[in-house]
Amino acid sequence: MDKMTQNVRTRFAPSPTGFMHIGNLRTGLYAYLFAKRNGGTFILRIEDTDQERKVEGAVGMIYRTLATAGISYDEGPDKDAGYGPYVQTERMGLYKQYAEKLVELGGAYYCFCDKERLEGLKDANGVHTYDKHCRNLSKEEVARRIEAGEPYVIRQKVPEGVVSEYEDMVFGKISVDSADIEDGVLLKSDGLPTYNFANVVDDHLMNITHVIRGTEYLSSTPKYNLIYDAFGWNRPRYMHLPPIMKDATRKLSKRFGDANFEDFIAKGYLPEAIVNYIALLGWCPKDNREKMSMDEMIEAFDVDGVSHSSSIFDETKMRWLNGEYLKAMTAEEFYSVAEKWIDRAIGENKYDKKEIAALMQTRVDILGEIPEKLAFLSEFKEYDLNMYVHQKMKVDKTVAFNAVNAAYEILTDVEDWNDEAVKESIKQGSEQRGIKSGQVMFSMRVALTGEPVTPGGAIEMAVVLGKEESLRRLKFSAQLLKEAQ
Ligand code: GLU
Repeated sequence: MDKMTQNVRTRFAPSPTGFMHIGNLRTGLYAYLFAKRNGGTFILRIEDTDQERKVEGAVGMIYRTLATAGISYDEGPDKDAGYGPYVQTERMGLYKQYAEKLVELGGAYYCFCDKERLEGLKDANGVHTYDKHCRNLSKEEVARRIEAGEPYVIRQKVPEGVVSEYEDMVFGKISVDSADIEDGVLLKSDGLPTYNFANVVDDHLMNITHVIRGTEYLSSTPKYNLIYDAFGWNRPRYMHLPPIMKDATRKLSKRFGDANFEDFIAKGYLPEAIVNYIALLGWCPKDNREKMSMDEMIEAFDVDGVSHSSSIFDETKMRWLNGEYLKAMTAEEFYSVAEKWIDRAIGENKYDKKEIAALMQTRVDILGEIPEKLAFLSEFKEYDLNMYVHQKMKVDKTVAFNAVNAAYEILTDVEDWNDEAVKESIKQGSEQRGIKSGQVMFSMRVALTGEPVTPGGAIEMAVVLGKEESLRRLKFSAQLLKEAQ
């Protein structure tokens, strides 16, 4: 069947070689968005043939990341729809069989060259290009040497004198002269495939219609296409994605621990904000919208908006976007994501967490800011009394001493401890005592928190702290100020 008239099938094929950095995840996301946009199927395939680079726990992390990010696959290791297994090491038997078939079809050949011989082919830079030494061995010789137990690899028989060309969906026409393509190894001497071979066999057998992956494969693709041709298979279409950079010259890289999805979650980013942000690193919807849900992205995703230049990962921008998500939540939604961060900040203290959440919602960009902003709730000790000195407000330590005492007296009589009641009492009580309420509130805020900057004013701080704790702190502060008179 012609692949173009088939249902769209895309795949995400991560290798379990470490954590999932933002660039990998974006590749998976685009493959997902493209499939869903076209009513197609999105497949997860684990490419674990490179056992040496395999990292313990990395497969579990791939599942976790996709689940947290809301990128759900239709087929994968635990969802076999008849194209499995979806883990390369479970497909080992297949590759050898297909490599042998390719030899029969004239697209590959056995090579018996040993290490020493290959070493001898190295140029001044230590790179060797295979000299096709075994390309024309007779069938009989090959059979005899295999029979004799000689180790061998299977190499691609790259046709001579052709130009291999394809139309990349992002980069346009890519062509490579076959003279520049080495007869590379497809099946290693241990019977395991190279990536170059496995990706072709798997994409074909899994009926992948659109291969979406990083630009590091852009110029190898003509070589892969020659394998499709030699098998007589339809080629898929390709969408290569430019890298995400850490700065003008360096790519994000998992080897250097850059931009790990799970680290951002641990810092208090929302998965949907991260996913939204990375979607925009290399793609722009027609209407230039920035804040988009997954469904909106699916609806808007189109290849024309995919950029072929690299983009720089900007955490400040992602932080801003995360803040927009937090602000757009209902109070309940915010509470449900913020609660554990609030718990972390208040420890054993019995504060009204809903009240605190309301205070925090517009004041943080990421949830991880909550504990530091709430540090005043759990820690209250001696502080710098110069914080009370405010020239414009005409407050000095003496004024502050009177103001804090006044606040203590006033608040002792407040029964319903809420915003309105606290505010009204302070206003009236100050007036009665002939002190400016502004001076009382200013002094009270410092007296309640002992901090130069707080996530709210005096009234909000008092409400969050509760009556008992507020009075305790005011008393403590009045004492400190008294000693300083
Ligand atoms: N396993 C490859 C990688 O992680 C995937 C390449 C591809 O998508 O074909 O880079």
